[in-house]
Amino acid sequence: MKTIGLIGGMSWESSIEYYRIINETAKEKLGGLHSAKSLMVTVDFAEIEKLQHEDRWDEAGQILVECAQDLERGGADFIVLCTNTMHKLADQIIANVNIPFLHIADATAEKIKTAGIKRIGLLGTRFTMEHDFYKGRLIQNFGLDVLVPNEADREIVHRVIYDELVLGKIVDGSREEYKRIMELLIAQGAEGIILGCTEIELLVNQSDSRAPLFPTTLIHAVSAVEYALKD
Ligand code: GLU
Repeated sequence: MKTIGLIGGMSWESSIEYYRIINETAKEKLGGLHSAKSLMVTVDFAEIEKLQHEDRWDEAGQILVECAQDLERGGADFIVLCTNTMHKLADQIIANVNIPFLHIADATAEKIKTAGIKRIGLLGTRFTMEHDFYKGRLIQNFGLDVLVPNEADREIVHRVIYDELVLGKIVDGSREEYKRIMELLIAQGAEGIILGCTEIELLVNQSDSRAPLFPTTLIHAVSAVEYALKD
């Protein structure tokens, strides 16, 4: 079994989900007392969030590169970055380590393709919904059509993430807003919805949507175990 190297803390509310899921999945696949071999390096999210909102991505990237290098030195066999947004800096990380990087959008896109879906809705932070690193990858590498909410609704989705979910606040009214926004995307032709922020699956689940949901924490964490167990 390979050792999974997790970069966590963005936020820790979802990092603990990664830790739970990789271990549950290893137990499910191997049985008995098996669990996943892993290392996790955790950042202070306040520092990262400040750099994001001040558009200082290079500096945030440098922090993540150091995390990845610490994991490599510690014996991790590959890197799992436990946030969608910070995959904006995936190339910077990949260029500075010698071990593989398991991209969250690739793992998710493969699930979407397997489900036979072409047009997909995307919820996430404003960075994930608006910048090209995520949408562009889904379109160019996987041939998907990607729909995002209108500007006012993107603001709501983003605000709920930063004001509530990363602080562990689960608010019923916000779930209703997400349900309304997902329904709008479905009405526009989305055949499924990517929960493209690792905390969104703490707020909504499949019973909140009539189209299939693609929860990125679950998908990424399970794919990490599958990769760890591959020869
Ligand atoms: N966990 C979130 C994501 O998956 C947002 C926090 C962050 O900005 O990293 O995008």
